[in-house]
Amino acid sequence: MSTEVEYDCIVIGAGVQGSFTAYQLAKKNKKTLLLEQFVLPHTRGSSHGQTRIIRKAYEQDFYTHMMEECYELWSQLEKETGVKLYRQTGLLVMGPENSENYQLFKNTLQRNNVPMVILNRENFSQHIPNVNLAEGDGAVVDVTAGVLYADRALKTVQGQFQKLGGLIRDKEKVTEIRPGPVVTVSTSAAVYRARSVVITAGPWANTLLAHTALQLPLEVVKINVCYWKEKAPGSYDVKRRFPCFLLTEGEEAQEHIYGLPSNEYPGLVKICYHMGSKTDPDQRDQQTDRSDIDILQRYVARCLPGLVPEPAVVESCMYTLTPDRHFVLDCHPNYNNIVFGAGFSGHGFKFGPIIGKLLCELSLGEVPSYDLSPFRIRRFQATTKSAL
Ligand SMILES: Cc1cc2nc3c(=O)[nH]c(=O)nc-3n(C[C@H](O)[C@H](O)[C@H](O)COP(=O)(O)OP(=O)(O)OC[C@H]3O[C@@H](n4cnc5c(N)ncnc54)[C@H](O)[C@@H]3O)c2cc1C
Repeated sequence: MSTEVEYDCIVIGAGVQGSFTAYQLAKKNKKTLLLEQFVLPHTRGSSHGQTRIIRKAYEQDFYTHMMEECYELWSQLEKETGVKLYRQTGLLVMGPENSENYQLFKNTLQRNNVPMVILNRENFSQHIPNVNLAEGDGAVVDVTAGVLYADRALKTVQGQFQKLGGLIRDKEKVTEIRPGPVVTVSTSAAVYRARSVVITAGPWANTLLAHTALQLPLEVVKINVCYWKEKAPGSYDVKRRFPCFLLTEGEEAQEHIYGLPSNEYPGLVKICYHMGSKTDPDQRDQQTDRSDIDILQRYVARCLPGLVPEPAVVESCMYTLTPDRHFVLDCHPNYNNIVFGAGFSGHGFKFGPIIGKLLCELSLGEVPSYDLSPFRIRRFQATTKSAL
């Protein structure tokens, strides 16, 4: 079926980034179509699950700056819809006091005047019971941080997009993109035309970009999302003000370990390793490596004595990693009406509202609200393949 309608924009992929982009476009009265390959909601990309951490604590100032506005945009969406999307818990950042990573987090918070509390060995257990601070580790709390209700956020922003007149077509896999002044997008069910296209396909970014003869240096990994049982129910509960936490590095871990208070599954605390094993997004469940779980088990046994050191529930999710772990937000080098947001490297959810705003601006040819140089593809020059 070929439709006669010409859209201002077609957004491909209804994860958090595509949904916020579509919403921003509709807010600007742009005729927008949001296409999704699976029936919504689904659990096969990167945006599913009930919770995500939101924080200003970062190693780089540019993320902390973007989060200033992003908190406001999350709060605006809450006000617009009357739906609660965020709960403040604080984020406890721990790491070897003298390590570069830990110091980067601490300095970024200080430099940007983010409300914070520095804990010392003496007062640590008084503020954070049930956590053993490793010898030589420092601890600082980003007070503004908390939990985002992820599934609820996705449903809310998609609902707002539809209320503004936007159209979502799920169970429609994009099978071809034909560039041109008007872009033609074919799906399993129809052919559409639009003045611009935004590709927000998460782990499938390179599959989609292949239609435009572009490939980015992205690696998709499967994350084992682990939930750990409290020995005494409620001891790591969100109601008892147990914070989210992030360990920058430690005895067991080279990458971050992070956790969220028990919330979605009563009595279970979500703790994950910030790295997984390589996978094809269509074969995610064939990747059965559990080395991240081994790392977590050793960490939980040593530092979280109130948890059973064996995961009670293991779910799956995927990260799409760039070599420097920064996002990709850019226009196609040969077609400036094809825009993409990719490589969110396991930390993109909290930025959804601002990514949506930036991708919307790029697709409309407007000057982006932030300096996008950390996110442009020219930083990959040697590894970006363009067959054109
Ligand atoms: C375990 C885990 C924990 C995380 N924790 C945090 C956290 O605490 N804080 C934080 O900020 N971030 C976190 N993240 C990262 C964050 O969730 C991701 O960065 C974000 O969800 C990426 O969203 P996306 O829209 O790019 O991708 P996705 O959600 O994967 O969306 C892409 C969509 O495109 C669709 N699609 C692909 N190909 C096609 C096609 N051909 N046709 C139509 N549709 C297509 C897919 O089906 C999918 O729905 C976490 C991620 C994981 C996995």
